Amino acid sequence: MNQTPRLHFAHLPTPVEELPNLSRELGGPRILVKRDDQTGLAFGGNKTRKLEFLVAEAQEQGARMLISAGAVQSNHCRQTAAAAARYGLECTLVLTGEMPGQPSANILLDQLFGAKIVHVADRKDRDWILQKTFDEATEIGKKPYLVPYGGSSPTGALGYAFAMEEFLNQGIHADWMVFGTSSGGTHAGLVLGQRVFGYKGKVLGISIDESVEWLQEHVSALASSASEKLGERIEVAPAEVLANADYCRAGYGVLTNAECEAVNLFARREGLLLDPVYTGRAAAGMIDLIRKGFFKKGETVLFWHTGGQPALFAEKYASVIAPPAFGGVATKQ
Ligand SMILES: *Cc1c(COP(=O)(O)O)cnc(C)c1O
Repeated sequence: MNQTPRLHFAHLPTPVEELPNLSRELGGPRILVKRDDQTGLAFGGNKTRKLEFLVAEAQEQGARMLISAGAVQSNHCRQTAAAAARYGLECTLVLTGEMPGQPSANILLDQLFGAKIVHVADRKDRDWILQKTFDEATEIGKKPYLVPYGGSSPTGALGYAFAMEEFLNQGIHADWMVFGTSSGGTHAGLVLGQRVFGYKGKVLGISIDESVEWLQEHVSALASSASEKLGERIEVAPAEVLANADYCRAGYGVLTNAECEAVNLFARREGLLLDPVYTGRAAAGMIDLIRKGFFKKGETVLFWHTGGQPALFAEKYASVIAPPAFGGVATKQ
């Protein structure tokens, strides 16, 4: 296997824990959680594993600046800003969505890490403004490295191929892995890791904002390209990618009763925090699938916690996530 450059700053392996109360309450499969919300960089999350490879690539190219883009409450951008600070790189973030009057949650943290923020009011302007930001930084000799949306390039996806190896080395059985999928890097890495390291269960991504067709095309292509970085191309077919897009109809970052219920249930039964946008939605999907009997009795489902909890403190989510809003005020799906 090729040695792709990698830094080591994540706290690994992340623990795997039982969720006995939740398993009992739902009366379905045994539920485990893989704590990638505890990866250690700036409150943790799944982007840490990708950034170990991405920042190494940036350093290899002689970059002095990281540039990335995302939503105002992007977890990916928060972790990128932290990694930049840690490795002495400048950081510029191109952020879309409504800017809060008072910075809070992820955008507050971006500022603490010293990132420069370029705000884009209209999402359709994001790509050209990102390009312009990159070109201007290049012109003044900053040697910027473009960290792709969500860190989901073939290089970033490697983080999750090795996360699969890590899980298999933990010697714990799981019939299913369930997690939130959006830009596809986590999903692609796990699918590639499944092929390379021989995981026998199923890898099911719950879509946060994309269609099943898009995810299958994009994740399979990403997994196939990422495999080349390990030395030999492995062809992953779209049909090999399992995805469920039944829980994202409300749109990105729009909380419905389902996300609110999931966040509240995990908190009250297990003392475990989910985030409103990603893990809340993925858990809501998993809970619904359990109630519908999708998983068989006696099976073990591993919920791969991808982090994101700082967003709980963003005003737009904080104002609807907790009771009494739960069950009433939140938008119906
Ligand atoms: C980015 C993110 C995801 C989605 O991961 P992708 O690799 O972009 O599909 C899931 N959960 C959280 C908390 C995230 O920040």
